[in-house]
Amino acid sequence: MALELPNLPYEIDALEPHISKETLQFHHGKHHQAYVTNGNKLIADTKYNDMAIEDIICQSAKNAAEAGIFNNVAQVWNHSFYWNCMKPNGGGTPNGALLDAINKDFGDFENFKKEFSNAGATQFGSGWAWLVVDNGKLKITKTPNAGNPLTEGQTPILTMDVWEHAYYIDFRNRRPDYMSCFLDKLVNWDFVAENYTKAIG
Ligand code: FE
Repeated sequence: MALELPNLPYEIDALEPHISKETLQFHHGKHHQAYVTNGNKLIADTKYNDMAIEDIICQSAKNAAEAGIFNNVAQVWNHSFYWNCMKPNGGGTPNGALLDAINKDFGDFENFKKEFSNAGATQFGSGWAWLVVDNGKLKITKTPNAGNPLTEGQTPILTMDVWEHAYYIDFRNRRPDYMSCFLDKLVNWDFVAENYTKAIG
């Protein structure tokens, strides 16, 4: 079961004017594709070849000699997840059980946004900001490079790519502007709510 590049869940220009077609041509068509291609080369003829992608991530994370496999395969998962975390005319506020949990675990939605942006802002260099479910509670985490909270036993329900390749064409060096745009205009809260419902069982 080879790793595959999923189609974007929207047209390639659908996130404009926030995230351009050019960004997605590179980010999905070149970067994500390269992780798929390299990941498949690295897992071919290994025990990972027929394994579920989440299992490859969790097992290769434990073995420093398999950093190449981990980095490429986790980046395949992270990007497939990230595309679904956005939608045209996204942003706004979540509702229902997810909003209740955000209010309970972060005080209120404004404070959640502040803490989530802070995770992205303080991730030095490349990485990801995450909203996860950990033992039934919502938590915000950040990971460097290809890191994924699955390896810590946490269930990701939202992610924001803060690698420069995610924003440099549209926002240049202004990571904070990209992050507020992500939260205010792009987040697909329906997808996050579905993930939350599944994660709390
Ligand atoms: Fe990326």
